[in-house]
Amino acid sequence: MQDGLWQAVLGEIELTVSRGSYVTWFKNTSLLKNKDDTVVIGVPNVFIKQQLERKFNQLISDTLAKNGITPTHIEYKIHSGHLPAKKTEDEPVLTTQNAPRPAAKALTSALTHTYRQGLNERYTFENFIVGSGNELAYAACQAIATTPGTKYNPLFIYGGVGIGKTHLIQAVGNAIMVRNPGSRVVYISTEQFIQEFLDAIRYKKNTDFAGYYRSADVLIIDDMQFIAGKEKTQEEFFHTFNALHQANKQVIISSDKPPKEIPTLEDRLRSRFAWGMSIDMQNPDFETRCAIVQTKAHSHGATIPQPVVEYLATYVQTNIRELEGALNQLLAWCEMRGLEPDVTIATNLFGAHRTRPKHLSAKQIIERTAKHFQVPMEDMLGPKRDKDIVVPRQVAMYILRSELHLSFPKIARELGRKDHTTAIHSVEKIEKESAQDADIRSAISEIKERLYA
Ligand code: ADP
Ligand code: MG
Repeated sequence: MQDGLWQAVLGEIELTVSRGSYVTWFKNTSLLKNKDDTVVIGVPNVFIKQQLERKFNQLISDTLAKNGITPTHIEYKIHSGHLPAKKTEDEPVLTTQNAPRPAAKALTSALTHTYRQGLNERYTFENFIVGSGNELAYAACQAIATTPGTKYNPLFIYGGVGIGKTHLIQAVGNAIMVRNPGSRVVYISTEQFIQEFLDAIRYKKNTDFAGYYRSADVLIIDDMQFIAGKEKTQEEFFHTFNALHQANKQVIISSDKPPKEIPTLEDRLRSRFAWGMSIDMQNPDFETRCAIVQTKAHSHGATIPQPVVEYLATYVQTNIRELEGALNQLLAWCEMRGLEPDVTIATNLFGAHRTRPKHLSAKQIIERTAKHFQVPMEDMLGPKRDKDIVVPRQVAMYILRSELHLSFPKIARELGRKDHTTAIHSVEKIEKESAQDADIRSAISEIKERLYA
């Protein structure tokens, strides 16, 4: 359970901080304890501990709170035997070919070969959902996995963030390794390629570097857009590319834009990329997104009702990483409270984005809430403190916050209060209660439904 919760927190942090920060500071953390108002986070070393304490404590605290955890203490503990935290495609790739890679899991232990560096076994064809938008890329990748180096060389896949490019090109590498464990498959991000190249020059290891990449059977290089402006690296890559291509070795490239839109990409590279096949990967459509949500939920051992699946697929339209993050957050939230996921909970967590009209006023919200609880408007805005007036007032404040994102002072003013801390407490109280109390939850969703009807 803790693991699920922490995965949800990490998933969200991953979207907030830069990729480098995420990999450096968060990737190998785990949740050791969540009890008695104390959260203990396991970290690999003292350096990371200090960084998290100094720079990221607030972010961690906020993200925990979003997932319903509000501890009074957060502690960081050096913990060597941590479970590997969320895996990403950013597995470190070692610079020299002799350096051992940390042992892979049982299933692929036969594949722990120096040349499967950078491949993450989590990405397979089997767990990739095919739909309109990605079917062409998928078909090309499968063809390459069957007979690398013969067709579509190079394969150049481009498209937006989080739509499965890394997953697919890694799946090719993994499939080739399964089929032929002796293959020399190299996966590397362009950023790492650049870094290694610079290091090789600095430490006078140019020949090792060149030799390593030029003797690959399959070179998979991710996020080629980052090579823009890196002239020396482009030149090096040009030679690597030629060597591989001439030897009929497969090259697979991904990028967030087509070659012609990568600024300052050398013409000779651009024309090389045009030799093979270029595929424009599109955002997955609604049906595909639904299938992804269902499959991912299933892999967590959860089944979620179709309306919730559709809600999520509507809530996140392009980035599948965000879609996974939303799903994880929802599952963790429900798991902690022993609730079954439903649309009301999802709406409370993520808001009613899909139907929001542009002109909803604060007044409309207060009036609608008053009507729902059958409280006269003058009592909503007046000084009375009876429970049957206080609760509707708090609900109105909560909805003002969640739907219009008003500031607390503004919320207080709308309800005739002077002190904005009242608004803060009210919103917090309803937030907590709506997670536990079905009556409050259904009141909120009914009011919202009417507002947006
Ligand atoms: P990109 O490299 O295009 O930015 P990724 O390959 O990193 O995107 O995908 C982001 C996340 O979404 C990954 O966890 C990946 O497994 C998942 N994903 C994307 N597309 C699919 C799909 N069609 N089926 C299953 N998972 C997917
Ligand atoms: Mg990627």
